[in-house]
Amino acid sequence: MVGLMEKLGLKPGVIYGDDVLNLFKHAREVGFAIPAINVTSSSTVNAALEGAKDARAPIILQVSNSGSAFFAGKGISNENQKASIAGSIAAAHYIRAIAPTYGIPVVLHTDHCAKKLLPWMDGMMDADEAFFKEHGTPLFSSHMIDLSEESVDYNIQTTAKYLKRAAPWKQWLEMEIGITGGEEDGVNNEDVDNNSLYTQPEDIWNIYETLSPISPYFSIAAGFGNVHGVYQPGNVKLQPDLLGKHQEFVAKKLQNQDPKPVFFVFHGGSGSSVEEFQTAIGHGVVKVNLDTDLQWAYLIGHRDYITKNIEYLKTQVGNPDGPTKPNKKYYDPRVWVREGEKTMKARIIKALEDFKATNTL
Ligand SMILES: [Zn+2]
Repeated sequence: MVGLMEKLGLKPGVIYGDDVLNLFKHAREVGFAIPAINVTSSSTVNAALEGAKDARAPIILQVSNSGSAFFAGKGISNENQKASIAGSIAAAHYIRAIAPTYGIPVVLHTDHCAKKLLPWMDGMMDADEAFFKEHGTPLFSSHMIDLSEESVDYNIQTTAKYLKRAAPWKQWLEMEIGITGGEEDGVNNEDVDNNSLYTQPEDIWNIYETLSPISPYFSIAAGFGNVHGVYQPGNVKLQPDLLGKHQEFVAKKLQNQDPKPVFFVFHGGSGSSVEEFQTAIGHGVVKVNLDTDLQWAYLIGHRDYITKNIEYLKTQVGNPDGPTKPNKKYYDPRVWVREGEKTMKARIIKALEDFKATNTL
């Protein structure tokens, strides 16, 4: 079987423009999705890349607004989004530099950008523009703009404005309509009423009709009862079949024989069942965001290592093997940080399997 790198002519490393479009088209056609991994450090970047490399799969790495500030370092102020802008740019350069070594295609993305965070987006797009002038590609493959808390009209018109800016350098833009419940990155939607958690097909058409004349590089994170984080089962039911109804509605309007014209993104994927993922993927989901489950997976390796070796971690010298025995090889960060990378990587490999992306390269 010819892998997708050969089939689509993809090079290892960060991809953008038509390569991203072709990758998502191929995924939608074949029926797999690519996990989007929230990264906050070079360690989590490496764990994600290693997982994708071992599974022979493409991967999406994304930084959130606060994840970007963390990448920059918590010791600097984030006034006027300075740390988030600098941190996301630093992460992008790191990922660009290291990704080709892993031999896989990587989509470099930024997560939720709400209205109050637009200066962050503006700063990143300034960097994209400068990078494009010098290298002929934007710095980031894609960004997400999330104005789902605003009116539908403002959401679509403002998204269109940003897509217009991104269009000359063929940058992908993900937008959100309807609200994803739960709490992520300081935005709390736990009390939102249930109707706004499900997007209507007319809204999807409205978005498609407005954005597609500007550029083909966009996707929609449509609410179908998704919740950020892992919670006890509650009143909101995940209804991935709604995405199929949206595709049907848009296809009927377009009448161009394409049964799945829309690229969908699945937010709040942590805690969902494999069956729910696969139903959603069947309806054109090409990207699934996983954050909470991976935060947990990253902790497990560290937690278990420290718990198991606690008698070797109490002093620099002296442990159960003898009072003069050094503990250096137990507290070296390359030993214990690595344990978190291993458990995070294993969870990513599981996600790639669940989303049918394994061995696609
Ligand atoms: Zn999200």
